[in-house]
Amino acid sequence: MTTARQNVDAAEVAKFDALASRWWDPDGEFRPLHEINPLRLDWIRQHVELDGCRALDIGCGGGILTESLAAAGANASGIDMAEGPLAVARLHQIESGAEVDYRQATAEELAAEQSGQYDVVTCLEMLEHVPSPPQVIASIAELVKPGGHVFLSTINRNPKSFLFAIVGAEYLLKLLPAGTHEYQKFIRPSELEAWARTAGLDLRSSIGLGYNPWTRDYSLGPNLDVNYMMYFRRPDVG
Ligand code: SAH
Repeated sequence: MTTARQNVDAAEVAKFDALASRWWDPDGEFRPLHEINPLRLDWIRQHVELDGCRALDIGCGGGILTESLAAAGANASGIDMAEGPLAVARLHQIESGAEVDYRQATAEELAAEQSGQYDVVTCLEMLEHVPSPPQVIASIAELVKPGGHVFLSTINRNPKSFLFAIVGAEYLLKLLPAGTHEYQKFIRPSELEAWARTAGLDLRSSIGLGYNPWTRDYSLGPNLDVNYMMYFRRPDVG
């Protein structure tokens, strides 16, 4: 049985720690996260009214999404296991005026103390970095209120995603540092959905996130072959 503290890959967390100071540089290593953020925020807002809701961002890093959840009116919290990005997130919000409660914790640890407390839980671009994604998803299902909303994103696992997300993004276009992603940890949509279903979450909608290397634009669309997001709800009780 994996315990809460063990479902963390120390080498993965160290990679993000090492890059922490670069988190908010729009032209730095996290440029792709800055560029996709308006798109993913829009998609979230198509499904849920963030104003006034209680939102938790798991694997928040330096807080790119977390701050924008707060800016949209959510009472937002962010958790991550890397200390450096959390320190950057706390400093950045002083500059930006965002009000986010940041804390070093795993989803499993928080689920043990804050069961059913969140209207919205987001966990974006993190599941492909943990030893047991299904265990994180079970904790997410515990953290979200009955009737609440869950948004997950990750990278599909197939020859095209290997070519685009690793060879293309890390080696040819150098959008991300080499070694950011490991192919074996990528997650097929069918796997993500099955883990969520086992945890008691119902899939409501999926969307792909595409990158056009010629125009250097990201866009949302129906193709889930590489990067994609899924929206789930925890059923209401009764
Ligand atoms: N979700 C953010 C950052 C993605 S980068 C965004 O999309 O903008 C992945 C983040 O997951 C890193 O900050 C890393 O430290 C964190 N992470 C990796 N394993 C984790 C774990 N087991 N628990 C919490 N955070 C983790």
